[in-house]
Amino acid sequence: MKVIPLGIGGWVSNPLLGNVSLVVEIDKSRILIDAGEGTYRALRMCGFDVDDLDLILITHRHGDHVMGLATLALFARLKGITLKVYGPRDVDLEKLFDVLGIPQYLSAVDFHPIDPSPEPLTVVISHDYRVTAVLADHTVQTLAYRIDGSDGSCITYSSDTRPTKNIINLARSCTLLIHEASGNPGTEEVSHLHGHSTTSEAIQVAREAGVKYLMPVHYYVEPPILSGVGNDINIIIPLPCMPLDIQKLK
Ligand SMILES: [Zn+2]
Ligand SMILES: [Zn+2]
Repeated sequence: MKVIPLGIGGWVSNPLLGNVSLVVEIDKSRILIDAGEGTYRALRMCGFDVDDLDLILITHRHGDHVMGLATLALFARLKGITLKVYGPRDVDLEKLFDVLGIPQYLSAVDFHPIDPSPEPLTVVISHDYRVTAVLADHTVQTLAYRIDGSDGSCITYSSDTRPTKNIINLARSCTLLIHEASGNPGTEEVSHLHGHSTTSEAIQVAREAGVKYLMPVHYYVEPPILSGVGNDINIIIPLPCMPLDIQKLK
């Protein structure tokens, strides 16, 4: 299994970082997680195209996670393919495509709504992988996803969330936790107000879940400060288009 970050920033972020979006490669399957503004561009810059994607997982309806889906649909229809998209029931694609003036392009999207649950829920099973989802703790209905590969490797992506037991349970003993870290230590109050976590809380979630590798994402306007890491947690700095081989982390 490989993880290729396409973007690593939040909605309010340095423009060079893009919006958080990840390609997960398992054998010949590719899953795109989240599609914020500029995701199509980032996808192409990293050497992929819409017809490389078997599945798209959307975590919530905030623009930095879903705004780019319309562009992906435009190119999918051009290629005569349909995008298989999963996301919380809260994501109203009909309304989004209508507002953007392209309701006819919704036919290029096969949307499977998920009813978020605090207990891990298996949402997709294929030959190469299993996808499990759980309710995160954000300001709108949000899903965190776990992908278990047939090769024994595993990643969990928190999406936008305050620290929550739901994600600790979901990520239990996974190889890698990709957790949002929108604030620096000391900004807990304001981070929680906006439904986010700090860097030290992301580290603590990884620790409690027994996950040794943490990739912090969703940076805001300040460089992330990682303190209190300890010997039990290894921090992986995400860089756009740079594949991380999960097999090597074991
Ligand atoms: Zn976000
Ligand atoms: Zn959000």
